[in-house]
Amino acid sequence: MHKTWNILYRGPLTSCNYSCHYCPFAKTKNTREELAIDAQKLMQFQNWVKHRSERIGILFTPWGEGLIRKYYQQAMTALSHMNNVYRVAIQTNLSCSTDWMDEVNKESFALWTTYHPSQLSLDAFLEKCHSLIEKNIRFSVGTVGLKEDLDVITQLRKRLPSSVYLWVNAYKRETDYYEQEHLKRILEVDPLFHWNNQRHESLGKPCHAGSTTFSVDGDGNMTSCHFIKDQIGNIYHDNFEEALQPKLCSNTTCGCHIGYVHLQELEQDKIYGDGILERIPLV
Ligand code: SF4
Ligand code: SF4
Repeated sequence: MHKTWNILYRGPLTSCNYSCHYCPFAKTKNTREELAIDAQKLMQFQNWVKHRSERIGILFTPWGEGLIRKYYQQAMTALSHMNNVYRVAIQTNLSCSTDWMDEVNKESFALWTTYHPSQLSLDAFLEKCHSLIEKNIRFSVGTVGLKEDLDVITQLRKRLPSSVYLWVNAYKRETDYYEQEHLKRILEVDPLFHWNNQRHESLGKPCHAGSTTFSVDGDGNMTSCHFIKDQIGNIYHDNFEEALQPKLCSNTTCGCHIGYVHLQELEQDKIYGDGILERIPLV
């Protein structure tokens, strides 16, 4: 049995068609040349994955929206059909057409979708979700848990089938942001919210980041995770695997799902199994 690697890829893309007030990439644009470079680097990564023998899971975490770009759609479709890719997922606002998803391998393809209430109506977002359900696409839905959005988040939960997991990301920029009544409402929507509504102490603790999971940028540079900037190698260099050894976290805390799910003491693999990248729990 080949070893499994979970890879978080973030290329140079930094543009989005939405303008969420809590995001630095709101309505930013890349030039045609920048997009061409992003596409070329993504293709290089795709070719690298194709020639690996490991069992690979990929989560694309672009700084912006990838799926409005045809080259992202094509890369995900191609990756989903590779025998060594058990999962290929992406964080997306789901504003793209879903027609192209008819061509993906439904076993490995998945979406981490986020609903941004300030950007489109609940009806419009749910229509997209129903299109995914009709196409049998694996996906989670999430939102940022802003207090002013709690009514619409509750509506979203009511109108999605219970089989679709709805996660809520805690708004952590203000301390003591939630009162008990807010927490109660959010936990009714997302029973796993308490994991996200804290920063986990991580300094010196064993984490899968840097051994069986790692981050890669468009140039192939590897870091243990998105939150520790020290480069540990480059996937396009010989013997890069030597860098992938058990490691202890060097940050004080870890507060994002894409990080703390790999902190070993939290045993999040028991909650998510193979759905850990796209954030779909086992039950
Ligand atoms: S959809 Fe995502 S990337 Fe785009 S502006 Fe909103 S939060 Fe930022
Ligand atoms: S605990 Fe978080 S910050 Fe620390 S190594 Fe793991 S993913 Fe990175």
